[in-house]
Amino acid sequence: MQIEDKVAIITGSSRGIGREIALKFAANGAKIVVNYPVDGEAENAEAVVDEIKDLSAEAIAVKADVTDSEEVTALIKETRKEFDKIDILVNNAGITRDKLLMRMREKDWDSVLDVNLKGAFNTTKAVSRVMMKQREGTIINIASVVGLMGNAGQANYSASKAGLIGFTKSVAREMAKRNITVNAVAPGFIETAMTDELSDDVIEEMTANIPLEDLGQPEDVADTVLFLASDAAKYITGEVIRVDGGMAM
Ligand code: NAP
Repeated sequence: MQIEDKVAIITGSSRGIGREIALKFAANGAKIVVNYPVDGEAENAEAVVDEIKDLSAEAIAVKADVTDSEEVTALIKETRKEFDKIDILVNNAGITRDKLLMRMREKDWDSVLDVNLKGAFNTTKAVSRVMMKQREGTIINIASVVGLMGNAGQANYSASKAGLIGFTKSVAREMAKRNITVNAVAPGFIETAMTDELSDDVIEEMTANIPLEDLGQPEDVADTVLFLASDAAKYITGEVIRVDGGMAM
């Protein structure tokens, strides 16, 4: 799975699945842009950069809130200044604001759609200009199985992830003639801070619905993203790959 010397931006990569993708890419020879959203919270991102440097790979940390198109433009500019090109974009940044629909506030809806869907629009639009000129590139969107099957208490989140899957397929069709592939990965329940919030009862109930009888690990997702980013997947576009222990089959 060589991605030697490729330049990759991974949004929201200071922790969780994004961090694991950044480390996996770096271990396979890529140059990494570790993105984080909040001023004054560079510590985790810088720690990931240090881990990457320990692997003898190159990395920088860049602050950009994906919901802000000006900050995204600056992220692209900084990446090109440092590394000249952009080969891979992973739209990983995501949030949850879970509530039953009757209790969901407008701001719970807006913030989730803003980060999970508009964020991917902002970054993909900005990066695609560069990739179209290069006539080469690959974009991987981190969706979710709940975008395929729905989930009570996650109307906002599942709508954002279903939207991201539709976005993936449309952009894949638009970009194919420029040799740019666009795919999505749909994780099931993966052990990160996002799932740490769930009670033991909920986790037990969820695990009972997973044929492989366990939660997934960030590395399980990172391995699939690495495959999609590599030349081994060069004839795959507009695809959604579930990494869910069989949950949504
Ligand atoms: P996580 O541990 O909560 O990490 C989310 C990352 O996104 C953090 O680095 C966070 O930065 C960043 N982020 C949040 N808002 C952002 C913004 N506006 N701009 C840029 N970055 C932003 O979550 P995770 O579990 O690793 O999830 C990663 C992705 O996988 C998400 O898209 C999620 O929806 C998806 N996913 C996760 C699961 C799961 O079970 N864990 C399942 C399916 C899909 P801060 O650290 O500064 O907050």
